[in-house]
Amino acid sequence: MNENTATGISSTDELTTHVRNAQAFLFDMDGVLFDSMKNHAEAWERAMKINGLVMSREDAFMNEGRTGEGTIDIFALAQWGRNATEEEREHIYKVKSDIFNTLPHVEPMPGALEVLQTVKAMGMLRVIVTGSGQKSLLERLENSFPGIFRAELMVTAFDVRLGKPHPEPYLMGLEKAGIQADEAIVVENAPLGVESAKAAGIYTIAVNTGPLPDRVLYDAGADIVFPDHHALHNALSVIQELRKQKKTGHK
Ligand code: CA
Repeated sequence: MNENTATGISSTDELTTHVRNAQAFLFDMDGVLFDSMKNHAEAWERAMKINGLVMSREDAFMNEGRTGEGTIDIFALAQWGRNATEEEREHIYKVKSDIFNTLPHVEPMPGALEVLQTVKAMGMLRVIVTGSGQKSLLERLENSFPGIFRAELMVTAFDVRLGKPHPEPYLMGLEKAGIQADEAIVVENAPLGVESAKAAGIYTIAVNTGPLPDRVLYDAGADIVFPDHHALHNALSVIQELRKQKKTGHK
């Protein structure tokens, strides 16, 4: 919950304080760096339907960040009254991945590169924390955001046992960066991702790139919500100037 949303002033001050003290930004990937959530939602809806389960696109956005297995289990339990078997899980997830791969090419989220470049220019580490398990992840990131990410600062589906909303992925991100929770900032777009980051004790920025109302992200615990990366970039640019002045003042 955020009591400061009425004015927004205190939220911005809080953002400034946290960013000025931060050593790393932890970025979620789908829906934050890549405009991929529409495709994931469509693939989920169609794969579930083929397998006799009902999942709307909004359901897909509400469950974004969960592992594929976890998502399938939730819908199986609710509609079949039992967990999916290992075989069913693998099959449904394969159908989902196959459909996803037929959908139009995913573009970087508008403004994401500018945000990443500003974070880099502020001298902060950039960490990826994603539930995605594509093998060509780093290559894709390097193509869209050259010089921003490194293989050793990535948490993917291959690293985590418990997906979001469990704090494990973000705790692992802190560990890889070698920092404490109060030295990090998370950028998320999904309610379960925000829950995960907040459960890890990290200040969390939400960029609302999907169809859900801001309220859902605040209710999940987001400290501040931006409508897009351009708005976040503007806020970070102001803070970047303040950091420069602080450094100059100390000389
Ligand atoms: Ca996401």
